Amino acid sequence: MRFPIASVLLFACVCVAQGGELMASAARRSITPDLKNGRPVYMAGFGQGRAATGVHDDLWVRCVALSTGEKPLAVCAVDSIGLFWDDVRKIRAGVPQATVLVMSTHVHEGPDTMGLWGAKQGVSGIDEEYNALLVARAVEAIKECLSTMRPATISLAAVTPKDVAGYFDDSRPPVVHDPQILALAVNDMRRERIATLVNWSNHPEALGSKNTLITADWPAGLCARLESLEGGLVVYVNGAVGGMQSPLGAKIIDPRTKQPAPPETFRFAEAVGEYVADHVHEALHDAERADVDAIIYREKLVEIPVANQGFLMAAQAGLFKGRQAMEAGKSKAPVGYLRLSGQGRPKLEVALIPGEMYPELSVGGVVKDPAGDFPGAAVERPVKSMLTAPYKMLFGLANDEIGYIIPKVQWDEKPPYTFGSTKRWYGEVNSVGPEAAPIIAQALEELVKTSGKP
Ligand SMILES: [Zn+2]
Repeated sequence: MRFPIASVLLFACVCVAQGGELMASAARRSITPDLKNGRPVYMAGFGQGRAATGVHDDLWVRCVALSTGEKPLAVCAVDSIGLFWDDVRKIRAGVPQATVLVMSTHVHEGPDTMGLWGAKQGVSGIDEEYNALLVARAVEAIKECLSTMRPATISLAAVTPKDVAGYFDDSRPPVVHDPQILALAVNDMRRERIATLVNWSNHPEALGSKNTLITADWPAGLCARLESLEGGLVVYVNGAVGGMQSPLGAKIIDPRTKQPAPPETFRFAEAVGEYVADHVHEALHDAERADVDAIIYREKLVEIPVANQGFLMAAQAGLFKGRQAMEAGKSKAPVGYLRLSGQGRPKLEVALIPGEMYPELSVGGVVKDPAGDFPGAAVERPVKSMLTAPYKMLFGLANDEIGYIIPKVQWDEKPPYTFGSTKRWYGEVNSVGPEAAPIIAQALEELVKTSGKP
């Protein structure tokens, strides 16, 4: 059965603010689950039935708010495997006075907020009380931001460390990373740090599948280190983490011992986070100040046909507890475009992608292999090539999590398999389908095109 290509459901322009003094603030709330309420907490991201046995470090919702005029923009990162659009809309409904963007860090060491990792196969792992707590805490953090906005300045920095490829174990060809580490630093008028938003692209799953202690994984080490070096609140937003960007299996030298960090340990996770923190700290040293006087955010809801039988069965079995309209064979997901500009020039552009995009769709490098299921498909335009600002970010798992977003020409469920493999590649099993990438790329291109001059 074939579904029509892109059908754009709704077009929403949220013009945030224009032409005023920059104001900013930051706030966080703990979203660590209560392990003493008598109900098991199932941890998401690997297999089913992984009940948490303790807490190593807290999970957080961390927000930075910016405004150059009337309606403030709140950018929040949640330590969660992923939040569906339905839950993000609940957060938005709680603070209609702000434009709210919610990105999941994709931590594999926190509660199952999506339902796929319950006690056993076919049983939802969603604890509605926990999802409601997460929504309430996010709303609280955003409200605190709105009540503490103060005059601010922004600096932007980016760095691609020479040895960064060593921090990814990419299990699926082509081996492509979106390796750049980007930072947006917000200072108050006394030059004290309000917040540092950091954007990179790697899976927070360094502890591996056997760990049963709740943790924010390597972003915990990143936030702790960078907050001690720079002050203020760190907000880590993940990027194009698909196909497969993971520190699991990477050989990382621990600068403390000069020896390889033992895999799947807390020290290993911390070393990854500290590596990112140290590079951000150095890059911010000679960061450019960006005088921002206008912020716009635009969003489009796209409809993507769901080809994944596993997702359709999960929806029918009630694993998502009513979230997402997958029952009808379609998934509705938001695609977003954010731009910060000053004196008519773009300073920072951000593509907001509702899932785990393969990095070749961000920076280019898609490989056509005749063994793919759609060898004649057009190659999607790389997201970052659509942007023209000196700093370009891609926010992954943004406002939704629809799974992997795979270049259509690399989609490969049927034999023969691409790149000479004798078995199926991992990826498609956690993707809504082959139309996700072309529909999202097209929607983003339209958003950029129709957003006018900075
Ligand atoms: Zn993932």
